[in-house]
Amino acid sequence: MIAARTFRGKKIAVFGLARSGISSTRALLQGGAEVVAWDDAPARRNDAGALLGPRATLAELENMDWRDVAALVLSPGVPLHFPSPHAVVRKACEAGAEIIGDVELFFRARRADFPATRLVLITGTNGKSTTTALIGHLVREAGLPVQVGGNIGVSALDLDPLGPGGVYVLEMSSYQLDLSGPNDADVVVWLNITPDHIDRHGSLSGYVAAKRRIFDGLAQNGAAVVGIDDVHGVNLCDALRAGGVRVHPVTVDGPREQAVQGVFVRQGILCDALQGGPERVVDLRGFRRLPGAHNWQNAAAAYAAGRALGLSREKIVQGLESFAGLAHRMEEVGVVRGVRFINDSKATNAEATARALACHDGVYVILGGVPKEGGIDSLAQFFPRIKKAYLIGQAADAFAATLNGRTPYQKCGGLAEAVAAAARDADQAGEAVVLLSPACASFDQFENFEARGDVFRKLVREYADGVMTGSAA
Ligand code: ADP
Repeated sequence: MIAARTFRGKKIAVFGLARSGISSTRALLQGGAEVVAWDDAPARRNDAGALLGPRATLAELENMDWRDVAALVLSPGVPLHFPSPHAVVRKACEAGAEIIGDVELFFRARRADFPATRLVLITGTNGKSTTTALIGHLVREAGLPVQVGGNIGVSALDLDPLGPGGVYVLEMSSYQLDLSGPNDADVVVWLNITPDHIDRHGSLSGYVAAKRRIFDGLAQNGAAVVGIDDVHGVNLCDALRAGGVRVHPVTVDGPREQAVQGVFVRQGILCDALQGGPERVVDLRGFRRLPGAHNWQNAAAAYAAGRALGLSREKIVQGLESFAGLAHRMEEVGVVRGVRFINDSKATNAEATARALACHDGVYVILGGVPKEGGIDSLAQFFPRIKKAYLIGQAADAFAATLNGRTPYQKCGGLAEAVAAAARDADQAGEAVVLLSPACASFDQFENFEARGDVFRKLVREYADGVMTGSAA
């Protein structure tokens, strides 16, 4: 754990006692601050009380005297500006207390206590976790001490303190960026932008503006790795270069001339143009744990970040080869009588599902859950690739209306029914793919996308067992 010493002797309010709130409270207490914490959910308060012990005071923040509160540490999920600021946010503003998140506490702790470490930050609409894990893996394989966290897995303050030369690799969500200031990062990776989380940021430009905060305070010799396969990335690249920042553009099958001092992938071949004429580095098409053009973008960005950290080309290629991939992202969870079952539960929006469909032709796909704005309209170009769609959850009727007359579909209600039906149809077709890539959030039927993917994996295992023992068709 990392102690947040910069608020020693000060009174800090912490609102939201899920993972990041608990870790902030612990780090602040350890650093000598006085903490008053609260969560609207009684169960969270009970858990927090048990976890934190008597040193943290639990009190309803809205009715508290805020005069001597130096800062509010807010959970990233609590509304800051849109649709309207939470009452606690208003209280903090009235009192003149700064509003920050756990990652900002981490930035301050690093600056004060271990400035000789290096910091890599990753953001984007899609691919953040894969790229974060991949960069962490490349650094580890190159033999450097590394800690990986942030929006992926472990909260930043729960990471271990590193000595000089150690590398922190943090995934950053737009919510976390909203609550962070200058970061002193050595490398910032910006992957891509498509509309997402508009409710929280008010508009697409609000969302992009929140994300662009990741470049605030980039270290003097820092590097920006920028995906330029969408217009936001192109504009960003130009703006950063105009401001004198060292930018390494990354593109997959985009215009090569724009990848000056960057990395590009052409038909699966990763090429390095970081220091002049492009050089062929590696053929990504053989890497089973990084399938599809979207993963080539992640691989190219991780390669550029690795080079910016000074890792050798050879070490990076070895790391790309040995990367095991992440669960719930295009994860093969079984092969039964030639049918491959792929868990892409993390595809919570149509853009992510498009990437999965682009990798497969003649696929039996499970879609549905809580739909995002626009539903699956944007997937129309991929409908000819779908043999049949199995629709679950709240989105079933709307998705059925979109698919009607264009692609065969079946409304299934739940995931168990969908897996059974898709497995049966795919088995009859032979050599096919059953893909869970829902293009929806999971909250109507599951706690989160991980739970949805875990249930899928379990259902596939049961189906496979049934086939082995002859009890499944
Ligand atoms: P994030 O952490 O940004 O949500 P993940 O790495 O967890 O990203 O991947 C989420 C989903 O997005 C996966 O289903 C994957 O298929 C898709 N995806 C991964 N990388 C990219 C990318 N570079 N561009 C578009 N989609 C991607």
